[in-house]
Amino acid sequence: MNYAEEASRCRRCGMCQAVCPLYQSERQEQFVARGKVRLTKIIEEGELNPGKIAKATFYNCLDCRACMEICPAKVNVSRLVKKMREKIYDAYGDSLLFNLTLEHLTPYPERLELARKSLRAYQSAGLPNLVRLLPSLKQKEAILPTVPKHSFRKELSSRLRCPGGKGKVAYFISCTTDILYPQVGRAVMDVLEICGFEVYPMAEGTCCAVPQLGYGHVKRAKAMALQNIRAVSDDIDFIVNDCATCGSALKEYPELFEGTEFEELARNFARRVIDISAFLAQYADVPSGSALGIRVTYHDPCHLNRAQNVQQEPRQLIAHSGSQLIEMENSDRCCGGAGTFNLTHPDLSQKLLKQKITAIKATGAEAVATGCPACRMQISAGLRTYYREIPIYHPVELLAMSFAQREGHEGEKTGKIEEITEGQGWRRNDT
Ligand code: SF4
Ligand code: SF4
Repeated sequence: MNYAEEASRCRRCGMCQAVCPLYQSERQEQFVARGKVRLTKIIEEGELNPGKIAKATFYNCLDCRACMEICPAKVNVSRLVKKMREKIYDAYGDSLLFNLTLEHLTPYPERLELARKSLRAYQSAGLPNLVRLLPSLKQKEAILPTVPKHSFRKELSSRLRCPGGKGKVAYFISCTTDILYPQVGRAVMDVLEICGFEVYPMAEGTCCAVPQLGYGHVKRAKAMALQNIRAVSDDIDFIVNDCATCGSALKEYPELFEGTEFEELARNFARRVIDISAFLAQYADVPSGSALGIRVTYHDPCHLNRAQNVQQEPRQLIAHSGSQLIEMENSDRCCGGAGTFNLTHPDLSQKLLKQKITAIKATGAEAVATGCPACRMQISAGLRTYYREIPIYHPVELLAMSFAQREGHEGEKTGKIEEITEGQGWRRNDT
């Protein structure tokens, strides 16, 4: 992509002002796409070196892509912002903490597992209560959910493979699912197997590289993308994932390798990537479970709704679980999580979070569903702080719960868990 040319396509119409959550809150040009695009053009044409103002401008963005949805010129704001962050990183480097995290922690699942253990020990020792006494850390600390006993990857070694017959599916394991929400990974695999697919978890894969791309560490991001691409063999039909942000990043790998020898390889990978909700709705014959009968409201993650154009499928899964969907106002408005935006811009993030929680509260729902673990963490913290602690699920968890509930009922009726013929239902084979 020629970034100066892309930026030149902006008509300066200002339509992006009406939809940018940050501009709506702060009313400053640096927050809106138009200001970012203008600055990109100036920098790309060599009239200005990226400095402090550029850094503040390009990091004041949620990558929510609301601007891209409305933009009449279809300016790819997301790519321009990422390119400018890359330039800023190349010129000034990063802080020690970010360098350690992005270069030496998140690319390595085994080191993330050590981080999970440390965080669990920190919570078990009751330290969060102490940390929350410090006003500057209170909000940030609240974002961390209860850390589970085991990671999802650890469970894989004791799990038998279901032969399936409907096709081979690779499962991309997001870092957050792995160390914070293993129940989602379990639900994904259970549901795929119940639907008759042969599932290959990508144990050789690594993080999707969104954190690296978000902070301009593009060289590292490319190495990680290649590791993921090589972790999937050609005979795999689909690469499913349960994280909206990971999914959008995996689909955008070809952009990373544009014009290089790896572009075709990346395209072959990306064309098979699909979100679990979209996959189940489009390609699976999903059996019926037992109706859960709970009232659920759904938050549209920006990276699922706009980056992947997936809106109805998660709602279909919620309905399929026998839950009642109650739509919240502005379900597609960013919750303010946006990766680490809630840590780097806590005040702005909280403003958006409060709006989201107000919308959830107004529905009277008993639970929230969303297809992004980062949104889940953010909304979960918001519910605890501004409302009450109602549960949050991935839509696929609701489906797995409805199957498990049916299994329980059938177990009660017959005195044992029945094996049901393929295509009709539950066929439990994990340990
Ligand atoms: S909506 Fe698009 S064309 Fe209009 S000002 Fe914003 S970025 Fe430029
Ligand atoms: S991506 Fe979202 S936060 Fe960033 S400029 Fe566009 S609308 Fe604003």
